[in-house]
Amino acid sequence: MKSISSETKLNIADSQIQGTERSTWKYGNGRRVAKQSSTVAADVVTFDGVEKYYAEQKALKSIHLSIKPGQFVVLLGPSGSGKSTMLRCLGGLEKIDAGEIRFGNTVVSSPRVHLPPDRRNLAMVFQDFALWPHMTVAENVGFALERSESDKRVLKEKVGALLEKVGLSHKADRYPNTLSGGEQQRVSLARALVASPGMILFDEPLSSLDAHLRERLRVEIAALTRESASSVLYITHDQSEAFALADVVGILDQGELVQFGKPETLYNEPATPFVAHFTGVASQIDATIQERLPTGHYRVMTSAGQLDARLSGSTILDSDEVTLMLRSAPIHIQSDAFGAGELKGRVVDVAYRGRGYDHVIETMDGNLLHSVFSEFRWERQSTVGIRIPVEACIAFPRQARSTEP
Ligand code: ADP
Repeated sequence: MKSISSETKLNIADSQIQGTERSTWKYGNGRRVAKQSSTVAADVVTFDGVEKYYAEQKALKSIHLSIKPGQFVVLLGPSGSGKSTMLRCLGGLEKIDAGEIRFGNTVVSSPRVHLPPDRRNLAMVFQDFALWPHMTVAENVGFALERSESDKRVLKEKVGALLEKVGLSHKADRYPNTLSGGEQQRVSLARALVASPGMILFDEPLSSLDAHLRERLRVEIAALTRESASSVLYITHDQSEAFALADVVGILDQGELVQFGKPETLYNEPATPFVAHFTGVASQIDATIQERLPTGHYRVMTSAGQLDARLSGSTILDSDEVTLMLRSAPIHIQSDAFGAGELKGRVVDVAYRGRGYDHVIETMDGNLLHSVFSEFRWERQSTVGIRIPVEACIAFPRQARSTEP
């Protein structure tokens, strides 16, 4: 979370204005620029070569992506990778230095154009809730509608329906400081949804809540935003949260959008070693290619034994020296290693996980494999075999160890 003042947040969160007025003027190529007085309705949102500098530092490097109406997009990346900057540029909290952001054909941000947040038909939900402290729960939610809904009875009905949905009808007259963190975040979710904005931006909304509450609220966010049909841009540094929520995940690495795709694609076909790491690897092991197999896979030799490996997506190998990224899910523990694709190892740690056990296994050459699941418990210090099928074994050109996020 970066330093947006509370006052600014409150103003943004409460300015969820419907896209009723659509006057625009032309901007070459049939594209349009929104006039300062107009608002923009839900549409495809496009980042077209967007760049952002903070002094000399390039925080966003030529970002291209599009978000379809109703799509749930999660931006995932480590701290400092540019997630908040992208969200703030889309929300109109930051100006951009190159490229364009468009809603449909309407340019809302470019170096020459900047439509303010309250004219973008979007709502935001922040990590620290940003509720008005002097307003009740119902007033906080209703305030977002006051400019667009003049009929007080309709307004009350809409607020009541939303509070019902987030399970807070019985606390409508309470003030935010009398609510738990989870309840306050439900109020900001209701406030974001009540005006049916074209888009909702979530800035790490679960990170100040405890694990149990995070899980419950995540499910509510997924269900209520999909029911609303608003498009969503959601940022997090938590891979499991991203994969659980997203239709599409964008991975940011030092200001660059390195991959944008479905969670399954990111997991099975990571574009870079960084993406592989950020979406979970059991281990990273150096290897040398021995031969190309008729299947298109590669037989490789590691210092612990022979494995079969595959390439991911459009990866190109320029030498026989490769680094294997091992996914833990397909790896199987058995009593011994019997041939190609199987290594010997020693169980270093075992942790009970309800459905079974996660193991850490050290191969004979000293590499550690993390999160190797088995429904059986293999005791610490026991010698085991590890079957590593080709789908678990993704080869990239030889990497320095520093690719880990
Ligand atoms: P993330 O949300 O992924 O943690 P940010 O978008 O906040 O990343 O930051 C991206 C980069 O831009 C970081 O190097 C950060 O230090 C820098 N940055 C972000 N906001 C500012 C700012 N207001 N002034 C200067 N540098 C900033």
